[in-house]
Amino acid sequence: MNFFTYKKNKFYAEGVAVERISKEVGTPCYIYSHKTLTRHYAAFDEAFKSVPHLICYSVKANSNIAVLNTFIKQGSGVDIVSGGELFRALKAGANPKKIVYSGVGKREDEIEYALKTGILMFNVESPEELRTINKIAGRLKKKANFAIRVNPNVDAKTHPYISTGLKKNKFGIETEQAIKEYIFAKNNLKNLVPLGVDCHIGSQLTQISPFTDALKKTKNIIATLRSQGIDIKYLDIGGGLGITYKDEDAPHPGKYGKAVIEETKGLGVTLIFEPGRVMVGNAGILVAKVLYTKQGTEKNFIITDAAMNDLARPSLYGSYHAIKAVRKNSTKEIKADVVGPICESGDFFAKDRELPSFKSGDLMAIMSAGAYGFSMSSNYNSRPRTVEVMVTGNKFKIIRERESYKDLIKGEKI
Ligand SMILES: *Cc1c(COP(=O)(O)O)cnc(C)c1O
Repeated sequence: MNFFTYKKNKFYAEGVAVERISKEVGTPCYIYSHKTLTRHYAAFDEAFKSVPHLICYSVKANSNIAVLNTFIKQGSGVDIVSGGELFRALKAGANPKKIVYSGVGKREDEIEYALKTGILMFNVESPEELRTINKIAGRLKKKANFAIRVNPNVDAKTHPYISTGLKKNKFGIETEQAIKEYIFAKNNLKNLVPLGVDCHIGSQLTQISPFTDALKKTKNIIATLRSQGIDIKYLDIGGGLGITYKDEDAPHPGKYGKAVIEETKGLGVTLIFEPGRVMVGNAGILVAKVLYTKQGTEKNFIITDAAMNDLARPSLYGSYHAIKAVRKNSTKEIKADVVGPICESGDFFAKDRELPSFKSGDLMAIMSAGAYGFSMSSNYNSRPRTVEVMVTGNKFKIIRERESYKDLIKGEKI
């Protein structure tokens, strides 16, 4: 459910015409709907209201501090994967006691920054990392709370690039070894406190069963640890709940909630969730202007001013994003590729797609671009990154300015 709709053939973000925003801030531009963001958070939170839980929004899905602040105001914590994300989260007002820190390659300076901040816990992904955190905590005379990210060897049934819970993936520690590490830490790593068990098996999951399969395995781990005198207070289930980009039958958070609550009944833990995509994906669009159209003998091309540097998902994963005309003025359809100006054949938003017959100057809305859109954007081809806009009701405001040419060479020297 989102608040991007047509009113009399014109496309709106909540109460503001997308055409009006694009005229004022230029294109390409990202537009987010505040009401959609808060609704998504509330729906997720509602699904778990009967059990102790903490939502830690996954910063990497959309890291704009206005977006972070929106969730933080609703009570959200954050899941971070770098020192930079910690910095952003704190700027956005995050409560350190609601921050979990994931990722396979945490640097020493990042670990130190997180320890000084006093985050809730580290989600540890390797035995060496565990020892490094212990060492740094000792140096700082602090105790570090941790969970081990277990790799449950469960197939998330998603795109291979975003599947993370299989033995062949780089993430987490395998079950047997994880248990040994908790016991080793208890006996030898005196600056560590085991607080939880963590598991994140992948992204854009559209089935419930991989989640419950992973939960069954983590439950066993918790039982084993407790039998060894290691008290576990948190079970971090990660993120990964999918959304509808095209025709995927993504489960509603309510359905996911029911399954998770059922599976964790009587476990006596606080559940932690790290949702990213499901919070922001359908709360954002990328607006692009058509620069040119051209008809080849094999294909039609629609060339836009947005490119793969602005939204990488189609190039990276072959992802589908729906494309809509910002002003509906013809019922005629053409089959075309929608491409950007970048010098790569992988620079496309759609292939052989039936589309309204766009012409030069028309605006298009590339849908479901709120997650892994701007946050993955780059300056490739020396393209300044786009402006980001937040719409709230009948108002909109710029939440990140478009970059300038000067921004492009910031810090460079001859
Ligand atoms: C990316 C990531 C998430 C968020 O995943 P979504 O599919 O966007 O919900 C959560 N936890 C970890 C550890 C991640 O790497």
